[in-house]
Amino acid sequence: MMEGANTDDEGFTDGDSPEDVPMENVPDTAEDDVLNDKSASVYYTVQNTTEGTNYSKQEVEQMMKIDSYQRKIDTCHLCGECWYDSKCSAACRECEGFPMTRPCPVCNGQCNETWTRNVKLSHSYHEAHWEGTCKLPPEMQQAFMIRKFMDSSEETLTESMQDLSTT
Ligand SMILES: [Zn+2]
Ligand SMILES: [Zn+2]
Repeated sequence: MMEGANTDDEGFTDGDSPEDVPMENVPDTAEDDVLNDKSASVYYTVQNTTEGTNYSKQEVEQMMKIDSYQRKIDTCHLCGECWYDSKCSAACRECEGFPMTRPCPVCNGQCNETWTRNVKLSHSYHEAHWEGTCKLPPEMQQAFMIRKFMDSSEETLTESMQDLSTT
């Protein structure tokens, strides 16, 4: 969008405007790589805002504090995988094979709804709890539940049926 304004800093125009590009002003390339690395979550947050890099050191520290706090909260108590980092274990009851979100468990994602983990309940019951709504018509949801119930002898299914009747 603003290509024209930045061409002098790109380094492609070597020697074109020497007075504008003093040696000391050349950005540290290593730092530049970090800023452009979307997997670095802290910088990703900064990039997501329209203000760009106008954050003070304090604000960034505050954000990192919230980040690590959130990471601590969103970690499985049973197996220790960090849901916040999109990690989970398939065999773990508290994880149930998904991190912070999962496709609709009623219809196995057929309705394209994403359910969100209730972290507090997952922790207190040591069992995954999800919040969401299946967008399929009720009779289809029922059909899915019955089919799941008949198809599988997995203990977790009976448990989730019990959960539905108690809430
Ligand atoms: Zn777990
Ligand atoms: Zn659904």
